Amino acid sequence: THFGYQEVPEAEKEKLVRGVFSSVASSYDLMNDLMSLGVHRLWKRYTVDLARPRPGQQVLDLAGGTGDLAALLYKRLQPNGRIVVSDINPEMLAVGEKRLADKGMLAGVEFVEANAEELPFPDQQFDLVTLAFGIRNMTHPERALAEIYRVLKVGGRALILEFSHPRWPGLQQIYDLYSFNILPKIGEIVAKDRDSYQYLVESIRRFPDQDTFRMMMEDAGFARVDVHNLSGGIVAIHRGFRL
Ligand code: SAM
Repeated sequence: THFGYQEVPEAEKEKLVRGVFSSVASSYDLMNDLMSLGVHRLWKRYTVDLARPRPGQQVLDLAGGTGDLAALLYKRLQPNGRIVVSDINPEMLAVGEKRLADKGMLAGVEFVEANAEELPFPDQQFDLVTLAFGIRNMTHPERALAEIYRVLKVGGRALILEFSHPRWPGLQQIYDLYSFNILPKIGEIVAKDRDSYQYLVESIRRFPDQDTFRMMMEDAGFARVDVHNLSGGIVAIHRGFRL
Protein backbone atom coordinates (compact mmCIF):
# COMPACT_ATOMS: atom_id res chain seq x y z
CA THR A 1 0.00 0.00 0.00
CA HIS A 2 1.04 3.61 -0.25
CA PHE A 3 1.44 3.87 3.47
CA GLY A 4 3.22 0.56 4.08
CA TYR A 5 6.93 1.13 4.33
CA GLN A 6 9.18 -1.88 4.07
CA GLU A 7 12.26 -1.68 6.28
CA VAL A 8 15.32 -1.66 4.08
CA PRO A 9 18.18 -3.79 5.40
CA GLU A 10 21.05 -1.47 6.31
CA ALA A 11 23.61 -2.97 3.96
CA GLU A 12 21.20 -2.48 1.09
CA LYS A 13 20.30 1.09 1.86
CA GLU A 14 23.43 2.75 0.54
CA LYS A 15 23.17 0.81 -2.71
CA LEU A 16 19.49 1.66 -3.00
CA VAL A 17 20.13 5.35 -2.42
CA ARG A 18 22.88 5.35 -5.05
CA GLY A 19 20.44 3.75 -7.45
CA VAL A 20 17.69 6.24 -6.72
CA PHE A 21 19.94 9.21 -7.42
CA SER A 22 21.58 7.64 -10.47
CA SER A 23 18.20 7.02 -11.98
CA VAL A 24 16.91 10.50 -11.24
CA ALA A 25 20.07 12.59 -11.79
CA SER A 26 19.12 13.76 -15.27
CA SER A 27 15.53 14.72 -14.50
CA TYR A 28 16.38 15.85 -11.00
CA ASP A 29 16.13 19.60 -11.48
CA LEU A 30 12.82 19.51 -13.24
CA MET A 31 11.48 17.18 -10.57
CA ASN A 32 12.63 19.44 -7.76
CA ASP A 33 10.77 22.33 -9.29
CA LEU A 34 7.64 20.31 -9.95
CA MET A 35 7.62 18.55 -6.59
CA SER A 36 8.07 21.68 -4.55
CA LEU A 37 6.26 24.01 -6.98
CA GLY A 38 9.55 25.88 -7.23
CA VAL A 39 9.70 26.60 -3.52
CA HIS A 40 12.90 24.58 -2.98
CA ARG A 41 14.75 27.56 -4.46
CA LEU A 42 13.44 29.78 -1.66
CA TRP A 43 14.26 27.20 1.00
CA LYS A 44 17.84 27.02 -0.27
CA ARG A 45 18.16 30.81 -0.46
CA TYR A 46 16.90 31.12 3.10
CA THR A 47 19.42 28.50 4.24
CA VAL A 48 22.31 30.40 2.67
CA ASP A 49 21.10 33.67 4.24
CA LEU A 50 20.96 32.02 7.62
CA ALA A 51 24.47 30.61 7.12
CA ARG A 52 25.87 34.13 6.66
CA PRO A 53 28.82 33.13 4.46
CA ARG A 54 31.60 35.69 4.42
CA PRO A 55 34.37 36.51 1.93
CA GLY A 56 37.34 34.18 2.17
CA GLN A 57 35.59 31.43 4.08
CA GLN A 58 36.03 27.72 3.51
CA VAL A 59 32.74 25.95 2.89
CA LEU A 60 31.82 22.31 2.51
CA ASP A 61 28.52 21.53 0.82
CA LEU A 62 27.72 17.91 1.55
CA ALA A 63 25.42 15.85 -0.67
CA GLY A 64 25.79 18.93 -2.85
CA GLY A 65 25.32 17.09 -6.14
CA THR A 66 23.08 19.59 -7.87
CA GLY A 67 25.39 22.52 -7.11
CA ASP A 68 22.39 24.60 -6.05
CA LEU A 69 23.76 25.72 -2.68
CA ALA A 70 27.26 26.21 -4.08
CA ALA A 71 25.85 28.54 -6.72
CA LEU A 72 24.07 30.57 -4.03
CA LEU A 73 27.16 30.65 -1.82
CA TYR A 74 29.67 31.44 -4.53
CA LYS A 75 29.57 35.23 -4.82
CA ARG A 76 29.29 35.72 -1.09
CA LEU A 77 32.59 33.92 -0.53
CA GLN A 78 34.53 36.05 -3.02
CA PRO A 79 37.32 36.91 -2.99
CA ASN A 80 39.45 33.95 -1.93
CA GLY A 81 36.66 31.76 -0.63
CA ARG A 82 36.67 28.06 -1.29
CA ILE A 83 33.80 25.63 -1.74
CA VAL A 84 34.13 21.89 -1.65
CA VAL A 85 31.08 20.26 -3.19
CA SER A 86 30.93 16.67 -2.07
CA ASP A 87 28.52 13.89 -2.96
CA ILE A 88 28.53 10.11 -2.88
CA ASN A 89 27.18 9.94 -6.41
CA PRO A 90 29.45 10.91 -9.31
CA GLU A 91 26.52 11.49 -11.66
CA MET A 92 25.02 14.02 -9.28
CA LEU A 93 28.43 15.69 -8.90
CA ALA A 94 28.65 15.94 -12.69
CA VAL A 95 25.27 17.71 -12.71
CA GLY A 96 26.59 20.24 -10.19
CA GLU A 97 29.88 20.75 -11.96
CA LYS A 98 28.09 21.49 -15.21
CA ARG A 99 25.72 23.92 -13.51
CA LEU A 100 28.56 25.86 -11.89
CA ALA A 101 30.60 25.81 -15.09
CA ASP A 102 27.64 27.25 -17.01
CA LYS A 103 27.45 30.08 -14.48
CA GLY A 104 31.20 30.71 -14.63
CA MET A 105 31.53 29.74 -11.00
CA LEU A 106 34.39 27.26 -10.91
CA ALA A 107 37.16 29.35 -9.34
CA GLY A 108 37.94 27.95 -5.92
CA VAL A 109 35.37 25.17 -6.25
CA GLU A 110 36.34 21.53 -5.87
CA PHE A 111 34.23 18.44 -6.41
CA VAL A 112 34.90 15.48 -4.19
CA GLU A 113 33.17 12.13 -4.37
CA ALA A 114 32.73 10.97 -0.80
CA ASN A 115 30.38 9.37 1.67
CA ALA A 116 29.34 12.01 4.22
CA GLU A 117 29.58 9.36 6.92
CA GLU A 118 33.32 9.02 6.30
CA LEU A 119 34.77 12.28 5.07
CA PRO A 120 38.22 12.34 3.48
CA PHE A 121 39.07 15.71 5.08
CA PRO A 122 41.31 16.52 8.06
CA ASP A 123 39.84 17.91 11.28
CA GLN A 124 38.77 21.55 11.57
CA GLN A 125 38.98 22.61 7.93
CA PHE A 126 35.73 24.47 7.29
CA ASP A 127 34.01 27.62 8.52
CA LEU A 128 30.68 26.37 7.28
CA VAL A 129 29.18 23.03 6.35
CA THR A 130 25.88 22.94 4.50
CA LEU A 131 23.79 19.88 3.75
CA ALA A 132 20.52 20.17 1.87
CA PHE A 133 18.13 17.29 1.40
CA GLY A 134 20.81 14.66 1.90
CA ILE A 135 20.98 13.47 5.50
CA ARG A 136 17.59 11.80 5.27
CA ASN A 137 19.03 9.27 2.86
CA MET A 138 22.06 8.39 4.89
CA THR A 139 22.38 5.02 6.57
CA HIS A 140 23.87 6.49 9.74
CA PRO A 141 22.89 10.16 10.01
CA GLU A 142 24.59 10.34 13.40
CA ARG A 143 27.90 9.42 11.76
CA ALA A 144 27.45 12.17 9.21
CA LEU A 145 26.75 14.63 12.04
CA ALA A 146 29.90 13.51 13.86
CA GLU A 147 31.90 13.96 10.67
CA ILE A 148 30.47 17.42 10.05
CA TYR A 149 31.39 18.40 13.58
CA ARG A 150 34.90 16.97 13.17
CA VAL A 151 35.71 18.91 9.98
CA LEU A 152 34.31 22.22 11.29
CA LYS A 153 36.66 24.79 12.73
CA VAL A 154 35.96 25.94 16.26
CA GLY A 155 33.48 28.78 15.81
CA GLY A 156 32.19 27.23 12.61
CA ARG A 157 28.59 26.34 11.91
CA ALA A 158 26.56 23.69 10.17
CA LEU A 159 23.24 24.22 8.42
CA ILE A 160 21.14 21.23 7.60
CA LEU A 161 18.11 21.69 5.40
CA GLU A 162 15.82 18.70 5.30
CA PHE A 163 12.22 17.69 4.99
CA SER A 164 10.63 17.61 8.39
CA HIS A 165 7.21 17.31 9.93
CA PRO A 166 4.42 19.84 9.25
CA ARG A 167 3.55 21.95 12.27
CA TRP A 168 0.40 23.72 11.13
CA PRO A 169 -2.92 22.09 12.05
CA GLY A 170 -4.47 20.43 9.00
CA LEU A 171 -1.34 20.75 6.90
CA GLN A 172 -0.35 17.12 7.53
CA GLN A 173 -3.51 15.83 5.85
CA ILE A 174 -3.06 17.97 2.76
CA TYR A 175 0.60 17.08 2.66
CA ASP A 176 -0.13 13.33 2.88
CA LEU A 177 -2.59 13.59 0.05
CA TYR A 178 0.00 15.36 -2.03
CA SER A 179 2.85 13.01 -1.06
CA PHE A 180 1.09 9.73 -1.54
CA ASN A 181 -1.13 10.50 -4.50
CA ILE A 182 0.08 13.41 -6.54
CA LEU A 183 3.84 13.24 -6.14
CA PRO A 184 4.40 9.60 -7.19
CA LYS A 185 2.21 10.31 -10.20
CA ILE A 186 4.38 13.28 -11.18
CA GLY A 187 7.38 10.97 -10.72
CA GLU A 188 5.83 8.39 -12.98
CA ILE A 189 4.94 10.82 -15.73
CA VAL A 190 7.96 13.13 -15.71
CA ALA A 191 10.82 10.92 -14.52
CA LYS A 192 9.18 7.63 -15.56
CA ASP A 193 10.21 6.38 -12.18
CA ARG A 194 7.39 6.04 -9.71
CA ASP A 195 9.36 3.81 -7.31
CA SER A 196 12.16 6.29 -6.68
CA TYR A 197 9.69 9.01 -5.78
CA GLN A 198 7.67 6.63 -3.67
CA TYR A 199 10.88 5.89 -1.79
CA LEU A 200 11.55 9.62 -1.30
CA VAL A 201 8.09 10.15 0.17
CA GLU A 202 8.51 7.27 2.58
CA SER A 203 11.96 8.42 3.66
CA ILE A 204 10.50 11.85 4.47
CA ARG A 205 7.87 10.29 6.71
CA ARG A 206 10.41 8.19 8.57
CA PHE A 207 12.88 11.00 9.15
CA PRO A 208 13.06 12.31 12.75
CA ASP A 209 10.97 15.36 13.61
CA GLN A 210 12.39 18.78 14.48
CA ASP A 211 12.99 18.14 18.18
CA THR A 212 14.48 14.70 17.67
CA PHE A 213 16.88 15.95 15.05
CA ARG A 214 17.87 18.88 17.23
CA MET A 215 18.78 16.41 19.96
CA MET A 216 20.78 14.36 17.47
CA MET A 217 22.80 17.46 16.63
CA GLU A 218 23.37 18.19 20.28
CA ASP A 219 24.49 14.60 20.81
CA ALA A 220 27.03 15.09 18.03
CA GLY A 221 28.44 18.04 19.99
CA PHE A 222 26.74 21.01 18.37
CA ALA A 223 25.96 24.00 20.56
CA ARG A 224 23.26 26.67 20.27
CA VAL A 225 21.24 24.50 17.92
CA ASP A 226 18.22 26.31 16.54
CA VAL A 227 15.45 25.18 14.26
CA HIS A 228 13.86 27.25 11.50
CA ASN A 229 10.64 25.82 10.15
CA LEU A 230 9.85 26.75 6.56
CA SER A 231 6.53 26.26 4.82
CA GLY A 232 4.86 25.23 8.05
CA GLY A 233 7.53 22.67 8.90
CA ILE A 234 7.41 20.80 5.60
CA VAL A 235 11.10 21.54 5.70
CA ALA A 236 13.29 22.69 8.55
CA ILE A 237 16.76 24.15 8.83
CA HIS A 238 18.76 23.01 11.81
CA ARG A 239 21.69 25.23 12.58
CA GLY A 240 24.38 24.38 15.10
CA PHE A 241 27.79 25.70 16.10
CA ARG A 242 31.06 24.12 17.06
CA LEU A 243 32.18 26.15 20.03
N1 SAM B 1 21.94 19.15 -1.93
C1 SAM B 1 21.38 19.03 -3.27
C2 SAM B 1 20.13 19.88 -3.39
O1 SAM B 1 19.56 20.23 -2.36
O2 SAM B 1 19.73 20.19 -4.51
C3 SAM B 1 21.08 17.57 -3.63
C4 SAM B 1 20.05 16.89 -2.80
S1 SAM B 1 19.65 15.28 -3.36
C5 SAM B 1 17.98 15.13 -2.84
C6 SAM B 1 20.43 14.20 -2.22
C7 SAM B 1 21.89 13.97 -2.50
O3 SAM B 1 22.45 13.24 -1.42
C8 SAM B 1 22.17 13.14 -3.76
O4 SAM B 1 22.99 13.87 -4.62
C9 SAM B 1 22.84 11.89 -3.21
O5 SAM B 1 23.79 11.36 -4.10
C10 SAM B 1 23.46 12.41 -1.92
N2 SAM B 1 23.78 11.41 -0.90
C11 SAM B 1 23.02 10.41 -0.46
N3 SAM B 1 23.65 9.70 0.49
C12 SAM B 1 24.86 10.29 0.66
C13 SAM B 1 25.99 10.03 1.50
N4 SAM B 1 25.99 9.02 2.37
N5 SAM B 1 27.04 10.84 1.41
C14 SAM B 1 27.07 11.88 0.54
N6 SAM B 1 26.04 12.17 -0.28
C15 SAM B 1 24.95 11.39 -0.23
